Order: sequence, then C-alpha cells, then structure tokens
Amino acid sequence: MTDFDYDFFVIGGGSGGVRAGRIAAGLGARVGLAEERYLGGTCVNVGCIPKKLFSYASHYAQDFEDARGYGWELPGEPRFHWPTLRDNKDREIQRLNAVYLRMLEGAGVVMHRQRALLLDKHTIALGDKTITAKEILVATGGWPAIPDIEGKEHSITSNELFSLTALPESILIVGGGYIAVEFAGILAGLKVSTTLVHRGPSLLRGFDAEIAGAFAVELQKYATLQLDTDVVKIHKLADGGLQVLLSNDVVLTVNAVMFATGRNPNTANLGLEALGIELGENGAIIVNDDFTTNVPNIHAVGDVIDRVALTPVALAEGQILAQRLFGKTDGGKRRAMRYENIPTAVFSNPNIATVGLDEEGARQQYPNLAVYRSHFKALRHTLSGRHEKTFLKLLVDTNTDRVVGIHMLGADAGEIVQGLAVAINAGATKADFDATLGIHPTVAEEFVTMRTPS
Ligand code: FAD
Ligand code: NDP
Repeated sequence: MTDFDYDFFVIGGGSGGVRAGRIAAGLGARVGLAEERYLGGTCVNVGCIPKKLFSYASHYAQDFEDARGYGWELPGEPRFHWPTLRDNKDREIQRLNAVYLRMLEGAGVVMHRQRALLLDKHTIALGDKTITAKEILVATGGWPAIPDIEGKEHSITSNELFSLTALPESILIVGGGYIAVEFAGILAGLKVSTTLVHRGPSLLRGFDAEIAGAFAVELQKYATLQLDTDVVKIHKLADGGLQVLLSNDVVLTVNAVMFATGRNPNTANLGLEALGIELGENGAIIVNDDFTTNVPNIHAVGDVIDRVALTPVALAEGQILAQRLFGKTDGGKRRAMRYENIPTAVFSNPNIATVGLDEEGARQQYPNLAVYRSHFKALRHTLSGRHEKTFLKLLVDTNTDRVVGIHMLGADAGEIVQGLAVAINAGATKADFDATLGIHPTVAEEFVTMRTPS
C-alpha cells in the first residue's frame, strides 16, 4: 500500500463519503477526502437538517391557532420574521460543518477543500496538484434536475430556497415527490400562498396509494393542488412576478416557481467516462453488491448510485464499503446492504411515514393479505378544532401472520414508525402486535389495538 499517497481517497464530503472516510481511517487506512462545496453534503447543508428546522418553524403557525381551543389568548396576530429563521439555521449549519471537520480530522482524515477530478484509476487532480490512492470512493451525491422548459432560468430549486433574501408572497411548486410536498407544507405554514402542480394523477408515487390520497386531502386544506398538469413555460413580468402557463391552459401569476422534479447523480466532468466507468441512463454510477464499479479499485455509494436517495442509506453503504475494504476483524464475513424494509418519512404537513410494502406491492407478493385501517381525528384536535385526520394502516400476510407493511399519515409519523421498523425487521406477527399493550392515550397505541381487517 505504501506506493500510493493514500490507501483510500474519498471524493465528496456528504453522508456517504464522510462515513466511509471516517470508518476507513478508524480501521488504520491512510485516508484523504475532497469536498468542493460544503462539509456534510446535501443533508446537512441543503437537505434533511435545514428542511426539518424549516418544518418546525412552519408548524408554529398551526400551533398558535390550535392553542386558542385550549384557552390561550395570543396578544394579536403572531408575525413571522424570515431573516431570523434563515440566519439561525445558517448558524446551526456552520456549527455542524465545524463538528464534521473536527470529527474527520480527529479520525486522521486529510482534508482537501476543493474539487477532485479522476485522471486515471489511481490518480486524482486537486487543483494544480495530483495525488495517488490505492482505493477511490466516488460519493458525489446528486443535483436538482429541472425539466427543459422555456423560462426555466427564472425558477429556483430547494437549493436556493434555503437562503432566499426574502420569502415570496406566492409560489408555484412543481413535482409530486418528497421535496415538493414537504416544501408545500413548509411554505404554506410560513404564510406563502402555495400552489402545487404535479404531472401525475396522484402524489408521492411509490408510497401507499391510499395514504397518499388521504394526504392529498389534507394538503388541499392549506395549498392549491393541480394534478395531471405540467408547466409549459414561465415568463418574467416587468414587476418581477412570474407568469406561468400550465398544460391545462391556465395561466398563473406568482412570485416564485420552485422545481422539485427529482435529482440527477453528480457524475458530469469527474473523469469517469475517460476511465470507462459504466454509467446508467441518468448518469448514475453502476456498482455491484460490494459498491465497486467495473474498475475494481473505484467504488461509489450514496445518491450517485441512485438506488435509494436517503441519508441513512448512504451512511450504511459507506460503512459497509469501508469495513469490507479495510476491516481486519470480520473473519471474512461482512454485512451486506439490505434494501428491503427501509423506513422513511416525508416531513410533510401532516407527516407520512412508512416501512415495508405498500398495499399494491403486498397484494402481488402475498395473495392472502389482511388490511387493518384506522382513520380518525387525534385527541389533540378535539379541542384545537382543527379538521386534520390521522390515518394508520397495517398490512398482514395471513398465511404467516407477519406484518409486511406499516403506514402512517399524522403528526410525528416518523418518530412512531421508526420504532415499528424494528418490529417489522425482527419479523413481528400480528399476534405480536396484539399481545403488546398500548400506551394510553397516544395515537401510536392504535397500531396495537387494530382488531378487524377492513
Ligand atoms: P451528498 O450529501 O450530496 O454529498 C455529496 C458531496 O460531494 C457534496 O457535498 C458535494 O459538494 C461533493 N462533491 C461533488 N462533486 C465533487 C467533486 N468533484 N469534488 C469534491 N467534492 C464533490 N434524506 C433523508 O434521509 N431524510 C431527509 O429528511 C432528507 N431530506 C432531504 C431534503 C432535501 C431538500 C434534499 C435535497 C435531500 C434530502 N434527503 C433526505 C436526501 C439526502 O440529503 C441524501 O440522500 C444524502 O445527502 C446523500 O448523501 P451522499 O453522500 O450520497 O451525497
Ligand atoms: P422525487 O423523486 O421524490 O420526486 C420527483 C417528482 O418530480 C415526482 O413527483 C416526479 O413525478 C416529478 N417529476 C420528475 N420529472 C419531472 C418532469 N420532467 N416534469 C414534471 N415532473 C417531474 O424527488 P425529489 O426531488 O422530491 O427528491 C429527491 C430525493 O431526495 C427523493 O427521492 C428522496 O429520496 C430524497 N429526499 C428525501 C426526503 C426525506 O427523506 N424526507 C426529503 C426530500 C428528499 P413522477 O412521480 O410522475 O415521476
């Protein structure tokens, strides 16, 4: 290994790269890491963390309203000050950036705060310097994809939204996935007049259709939703407003348009093509089960391989790779990545969380499926007066009694389903759920008191 400057060089300091670099260094490898933009990557800087902070911020609007039913009299209308939220969020992110730097340097990782480019299978350009490495990890993440429509240059993506000088009075959000629905909730909560336009007939493809349908009902209580609709063109008006022509011939005038139409793997201009590294149709790096490309010393994890674009997935992939490459104590065994039963939450308003199969997928796999449903108004909203429905769903294969899907629409769904994901991973049966006592009075107790399939 001593012929190379590094045993392991990581390109990209996001969730996957940081985890792989830190674990490899801990296992004794000489590790270098290049990050061109922000340490911690998308999740820390323009993803999970600031998004969740904004989601908390927006929920206060509802909490202030709900408090009245509980006897609270607020002195006048609460006012929201965007620069305070934005700047406090920036300070927290700077703190996290510093934590990441200390953690990596503390583990012995040599940091290069610049763009990396592959020159050959062991050589990397860092500005006007070159370094060599025995093993290389590409963990360069993804970047927002905007459809090629007239006037797209007047639009923004979630990247820009996090640091706007001022919040727009009105916004059109395009897309029906995670980011579109999360930001519809956030922005409407922050009193931005919000319209969501989605090309498909229903939101959140891939989620349980019934849960997604129930969510669409909730969303329309605070935002305008147009399904089966595309944006045709965007025209900037003299006063700075944006005139948007939709495929149903409707013309909307808004202050901002945000595309949340997916993300493409970040693989352009990295030197991958010259090395003959196989890429998929959308530029994703193709890797085998060990996260290795067709060039045996070059590996890739996280959003850049476009399997499941979630932080815990990138972390697990990075860790598995580092342990396989540098672990000395596993006696030849190694943990394989499992993509089934990945729990996930959409931090929409209300939250959605899920683990296991959706009803459609479960019916294909398990012909004898029992579906337990509970659709109710949570106790909290009996006095708040809010018309928000919580929806829980449990899917059970009656041949084995195993729970194969858990879905929730409602407050704190992510917190609740995280615990239930342990049960599903452990192979829990409906009888196990029935034998578990509830915690009363909670929303979550409904998951252990559902007795009759519907
Ligand atoms: P990234 O985190 O994107 O890191 C890649 C890094 O590589 C970047 O920092 C980039 O600057 C750097 N880089 C790229 N090219 C080079 C180069 N040539 N040289 C040097 N550096 C380079 N996931 C969740 O699990 N929960 C959530 O709530 C959640 N919310 C999200 C909200 C939004 C708005 C977005 C956009 C994403 C969200 N995600 C969430 C997804 C999550 O952020 C990603 O799955 C995760 O960050 C992927 O990690 P990664 O390491 O693959 O890539
Ligand atoms: P998603 O893949 O979730 O959603 C993209 C949406 O855009 C879909 O509704 C898709 O429609 C639509 N779309 C795609 N292309 C076009 C187009 N050309 N014109 C119109 N609509 C289009 O991507 P996001 O951008 O929302 O988020 C990226 C990823 O980041 C997510 O998939 C997720 O993995 C991760 N993420 C995770 C979060 C979390 O864990 N809470 C939060 C935010 C992001 P269709 O369904 O028809 O394809």
